[in-house]
Amino acid sequence: MRISLRDVYSGVKNTIFPQTEDAAFEAKELLQAVFGVSRQDILLGRETEVESEQLDRLQELARRRASGEPLQYLLGEWDFYGRTFSVGPGVLIPRADTEPLVEKALEFLKGKPNPRVLDLCTGTGCIAVTIGAERPDAEVWAVEKSPEAWAFFCRNNEKYGGRVHGVLADALMEIPILPVEFDLIISNPPYLTAEEMADLQPEVRKEPAMALDGGEDGLSFYRQLTGRYRSFLKPGGMMAYEIGMGQENAVCEIFLQNRLDSVCQTKDLHGIIRVVTAENKLSRTDAGNQ
Ligand code: GLN
Repeated sequence: MRISLRDVYSGVKNTIFPQTEDAAFEAKELLQAVFGVSRQDILLGRETEVESEQLDRLQELARRRASGEPLQYLLGEWDFYGRTFSVGPGVLIPRADTEPLVEKALEFLKGKPNPRVLDLCTGTGCIAVTIGAERPDAEVWAVEKSPEAWAFFCRNNEKYGGRVHGVLADALMEIPILPVEFDLIISNPPYLTAEEMADLQPEVRKEPAMALDGGEDGLSFYRQLTGRYRSFLKPGGMMAYEIGMGQENAVCEIFLQNRLDSVCQTKDLHGIIRVVTAENKLSRTDAGNQ
């Protein structure tokens, strides 16, 4: 059947409008995904030939979006740091908020040949897979405990060459298969407080609580991961976390309590501190004497 993209676009926009701050953008994404048309086709309101099933599917997706399902789950994929990751119910959606963490990591790894990297609570694998793709000489490991998230990690890792060594395990338990020394240990762990968990946006409520819930004060994973993995850092190695807004002082304090130095905070484009890092300045002999 022949349809006017202008009419269909404004129909979808009206359906999803109450649920989203950017109905125009999201409607375009849905039309592009279902009809395979370009943004320009939509903006020019072109006429196009579609199957009636495609139209039904679009309307179904618009209804689901209007009832609070995240756009990214409906599309089944989302871009992160220039690559497209498979996403869906059961895994945290990659966010632009996490790109500064990857940038900081890549900067740190510059000039370090064949670095070994560990990504904890990897989810889709967006951090580990990106680092593996940007640094083909790196040996990257990723740990994830949720079987649902693991399936997405595997798909994404395969898509970009299967370079990451994935481990399906709880990062807070002993993992015998892991190497014992890393240049970089990185994580975007769950970090929302109990109060924030009780007041999530409808879309975020559809994401796995396991990937969001950082305990009463949101800091539980920073305490546990830092304590457990500090001894896995090579001398000169770095630990790097994404943090929630306002958590920088508490997480830096955790670094210091774990005898890490060169604590550094990095702001995102909005001026919010999103990344904290610290380095292991101990030499091998110092570490042995502790
Ligand atoms: N940035 C996410 C949110 O605020 C939280 C991600 C996380 O806990 N790591 O929705």
